[in-house]
Amino acid sequence: MGNHTAVCLSSITATTYDVLIVGAGPAGTACALALRGSGLRVALVDKAQFPRDKICGDAIPSPTLKALTRLNPAYATELRALTAAHRAEVAHSRLIAPAGAEVSIQWKAPAFNSPRLHFDDALLQLVRRHTRTEVLENWPVQAVQATADHVVVRPSRPELAPLTARLVIGCDGAHSVVGRHVAPWPLDRSRHCAAVRAYYTGVQQAPETTSDFFFLRRHLAGYCWVFPVGNGVYNVGFGMLSSDIARDQVDLKEVLRELLAEHPGLAPRFRQAQALSEVRGFGLPLGGSARPLTGGRALLCGDAAALIDPMQGHGIDKAVQSGLLAAKHAMRCFQQNNFGPESLQLYQEEVQRRIGRPLGQRYRLMRLLAARPWLVDGVMQLARIPWLKRMFVKAIG
Ligand SMILES: Cc1cc2nc3c(=O)[nH]c(=O)nc-3n(C[C@H](O)[C@H](O)[C@H](O)COP(=O)(O)OP(=O)(O)OC[C@H]3O[C@@H](n4cnc5c(N)ncnc54)[C@H](O)[C@@H]3O)c2cc1C
Repeated sequence: MGNHTAVCLSSITATTYDVLIVGAGPAGTACALALRGSGLRVALVDKAQFPRDKICGDAIPSPTLKALTRLNPAYATELRALTAAHRAEVAHSRLIAPAGAEVSIQWKAPAFNSPRLHFDDALLQLVRRHTRTEVLENWPVQAVQATADHVVVRPSRPELAPLTARLVIGCDGAHSVVGRHVAPWPLDRSRHCAAVRAYYTGVQQAPETTSDFFFLRRHLAGYCWVFPVGNGVYNVGFGMLSSDIARDQVDLKEVLRELLAEHPGLAPRFRQAQALSEVRGFGLPLGGSARPLTGGRALLCGDAAALIDPMQGHGIDKAVQSGLLAAKHAMRCFQQNNFGPESLQLYQEEVQRRIGRPLGQRYRLMRLLAARPWLVDGVMQLARIPWLKRMFVKAIG
C-alpha cells in the first residue's frame, strides 16, 4: 500500500529540467559551472551527501585549474581559498625505477594535492555560489529511459519522484548508470585499473611538496604512490592493470602492506607511521577505448566516459575538460533544438579528438613500458641527462 502511494505520487510530481547532470564530482560540477548563464534549467543530482569521500590519490593535475580558470578566473582563486586548510602545494615529483634509479622533476605549472572529501565539496560550493543549478543530494539514480522528446531519470529511493529532462549528462563515475543507458559496455580488464589507498601520518623523509611514485619490477603497469595532502597527512596507495591483477591473482591490499613493510625505499619511512584510515579500493576506467559517449538523449563525461590517463592514472583533469565540452554541446543542442544521434555524436567526436586520441597514444606507451621493466630502468637512467629529461617530462607530463 505504502509503495503503491509512492509510485502514484512520483508520477504526479515529476519535475522537468532542460539538463539533468547525474554526479557532482569534478565532471558534473564543471559541467554545471559551464552551463551558468545558458538560460537552461539545470539540476545536478548525486547519490551522496557532500562532503563525501572519493577513493583517489588526491593529486589535482594542473590542467584542472587551467580549465576552470579559462571558464572564469574567479573559480580557481576561490577553489584555492576553499581548499586552503586541506592542501599540499606540489612542486616536485620523485620517480623511483624498479632497479632504484631516481628522477626528480620540478613542475612548472602549479599543482596541488587535496583530499577529495574537501576538493569535491569546494567544487560543489562554487556551483551553489555561482549558478542557479538545483542541487539534489541523497538522490541515487537507478535507471534512465529516453522517449521521443525527453528523458526520465528514476531514483532507487521509492519516496523520491522521478525527474524528467530534455538532456541527461552522465557524470556518475566508473559504475555509471547513465553509461549503461547509453550502451552496455562490458568490463575490459586490459583497459581498466584497480587501486587501493589509505591515509597515513608520521611518514618520515617525506617533504610536503613532493609526490613520490615507486615503480615495481613485479607489478609494472602500475605503481605505488606517496602523496602529501597537507597537515602532515599522506595519501598512500597502489594500483595496477586489472588484467594483470586477474592473471597473477594479486591482492592489492596485501601488496601495499608488504611494500610499506619491506620495500627499501618505503619501509624506513613508514616504520613510525600511523594509518588514519582503512585501505579502500576502487576502479579506474582507462582512456583510449572506443566506448560510445552519446545516445538516448545522454552524454557521458569523466570516468563514466572512461577518460583516465593510462600512464598516470589521473582523471580529474579529463573529467573537468569533458564536463566543459558536454556543457558546450548541450547548449548547441538546445540552440538547434536537435537531440538526435548525429547532433549528440558531435560531442563524442570532439572528446575523441581532444582527449580520447592522446589517451589512446598514452595507452600504447603504457603497454610498451609495462612489458619491459628494463626499458623503464633505462629510460629513468637516461632521464638524468638534462635535455633527455626535458623530453621525458614532456612524454609523461
Ligand atoms: C585509487 C584511485 C586513485 C586515483 N588517483 C587520482 C589522482 O591522484 N589524480 C587524478 O586526477 N585522478 C585520480 N584517480 C581518478 C579520479 O578519481 C577520477 O578520474 C575522477 O574522480 C573522475 O571524476 P568524475 O566526476 O568523472 O567521477 P567521480 O569523481 O567518481 O564522481 C561521480 C559522482 O557521481 C555520483 N554517483 C555515482 N553513481 C550515482 C548514481 N547512481 N546516482 C547519483 N549519483 C551517482 C557519486 O556519488 C560521485 O559524487 C584515481 C582513481 C582511483 C580509483
